[in-house]
Formats: sequence, structure tokens, C-alpha cells
Amino acid sequence: MTVAYQLEEAGTRLSKTTVERRPLGPRDVRLDLKYCGICHSDLVAAGDKLGGGMYPMVPGHEMVGVVSEMGVQVEGVSIGEVVGVGCIADSCRRCQPCESGDEHYCETGFTLSFNSKDPEGRVNYGGYASDYVVDYDYLVPIPDGADLARMAPLLCGGITVYTPLKRFKVGPDTTLCVLGMGGLGHLAIQFANAMGARVLVASRSAAKRADAKRLGAELALDPESEELQEWVGQCDLILDTISNPHDLNQWFPLLRRGGKLCLVGVPTDQLQVFPALIVFGDRSLEGSLIGGIADTREMMQFAHAHGLGAEIELVQPDEIEGAWHRLHEGDVQYRFVIDLESLSND
Ligand SMILES: [Zn+2]
Ligand SMILES: [Zn+2]
Repeated sequence: MTVAYQLEEAGTRLSKTTVERRPLGPRDVRLDLKYCGICHSDLVAAGDKLGGGMYPMVPGHEMVGVVSEMGVQVEGVSIGEVVGVGCIADSCRRCQPCESGDEHYCETGFTLSFNSKDPEGRVNYGGYASDYVVDYDYLVPIPDGADLARMAPLLCGGITVYTPLKRFKVGPDTTLCVLGMGGLGHLAIQFANAMGARVLVASRSAAKRADAKRLGAELALDPESEELQEWVGQCDLILDTISNPHDLNQWFPLLRRGGKLCLVGVPTDQLQVFPALIVFGDRSLEGSLIGGIADTREMMQFAHAHGLGAEIELVQPDEIEGAWHRLHEGDVQYRFVIDLESLSND
């Protein structure tokens, strides 16, 4: 029996209940969940902000757990091993994006780890629960000795920032500007710093600016600061992690010729762009969505090798609603993670 925190309808009201996972298939692994990160997109899905919400819904897509049961065809995994599951729980495995490791762009649509249907049409419940069942192709090994709670948010938040840093070849010759210092931003700083880049951070909060420097940013500025002028034409990449409506046009001038502003936050309102800021500077506006399974595995190893992880506030399952409220207000340092240990003892 799976103990889970479930929404009966769109909103933020969760109730503790039991749900039935699909029966363990030959390729499936059951995880006893230890931790699940709380991602902003849990709130978006819970509130049905983008439509298509499937209720009752159990959110959660940053899961870390221990393998407790395996189907007969599962290979390369053992009972007791610590593994993670991020946003992707299945995909067709045959289309060009799947074959090139971009399962998140699967042409038939990938199966999200919650609020989604698996290939047999069964609705997927997420990781605010005592266990999870998933095809072993979609597991992310967690390195030995890792702090499991700090690793959980990497399964969505970490890969979301790692993918564009890799795609745009961020390294020692790169000057990167990170917009927003929240769940994604604080991870982007750490990854980019570990890759050797110069990191500039823009945040309105003085406390967050201090944290940005502690996490490896060379400079952290208020978006209204005059000092920002010194960075005009200096940045190779701007990683925009802000999930609220905001002004993009203020930022394009920081890019050198050919520089890119990449959105990873997903505001649900329109953003306006003044075309001359792109055309005259040979600049571009990009977007990047999570990342594939191979890259997620690579990201996890990279994070552990560099001793980085999310800065977290650990909450108990009966505190999720309060955490959601604080997340909605932007009041979290920097990612909530649910301690699921108590659920498996129920
Ligand atoms: Zn997420
Ligand atoms: Zn596919």
C-alpha cells in the first residue's frame, strides 16, 4: 500500500491517503522513497495553471529512494541501491530525440513522473508518497556517500540548469549572468562556478546576493544597480531562472555580440521583447527544458564530484501545504525537500 499526499481537485489542499501503484512489471523497479524535492512546477500542476490536470493528483518529481523490489528483466540495479527519479518516467525510446538522449523531447510525448499517463494509459502518481514504481531505464544512480536530501532537488532543478550550461559550453572562458536567486538560480551559480565560469548574479535581495557570493558568484548586484553598466557587452550567456513576469529588455545589453539569453523559468504570462535588442547585437533568446536521462546521470556525478547540492529546508509531509505557500511567496532557502521516512513507517 502506498501512502501519499493527494489533491482531490485543482488547488493547494493535500490530504493524506493511500493510492495504488501499477503492478510491478518485468522492467519495473519499486523504490522506497526517502526524500522528494518540492519544485515550483508542482504548484503549477496542482493549480492546473497550464491545463490538463489529472485528479486525484499526487505531485512530486524529485525523488530519491532505495530499490526495494525489481522485475525479472531489470539489469544493472540491485536491491538496496539508492537511486533517483526526476521528471521523466517513460518515453517511446524509438524516436530521434529518444535515441539521442533527449527523452524530454520525445515525439510521442514523454511520461512525466506525475500528472501524466504511462504507455498503458494509467495515471501516474508522483513522489509525495512512500514508494514509487518506474521502468529502470529512467533511474538516476545517486553516488555513494551523497547527502540524499540535498541531491533530490538536482533531479529537476539541477538538470534544468545543467543542460543549458552544457549546451552553451560554459567553462573557464565564459562570463555567465544568472537572473534570479531561487531554487534554480542557486544551483546554476554552483554548477557554473564548478565549470570554471565567471558568474554574475542579479537579485533584489541583499541576503540572497550575499548567499550568491558564498556559493561562488564573483559579483552579485541589485537589478537596479548602476554597477550593472560595467557589464554591458560582457556576458556570453544569461540564464534566466525567474518564474514571475519580468522585463527581459533590461538584460540583453549585457550580452556580447552573439550572446544568448536562455529562459529556464516558465512564467505563465507573456514576456515582451524589443526586437532591436536582439537584431542589432546578433543576440538570441533561447529556451531549455529539463534534460535527458543520460545528462541527468552525468549531472548527478558532476555534482557529487564537486561537492555541490541544493541548499534545502527539510519539511515533514504534513508541512507541505505551508511549504507551498512559502514557495509561492518566494520565501525558501533555496529548495524545500520532504522527509518521507515517516510515511514508510505508517
Ligand atoms: Zn521541477
Ligand atoms: Zn521518443
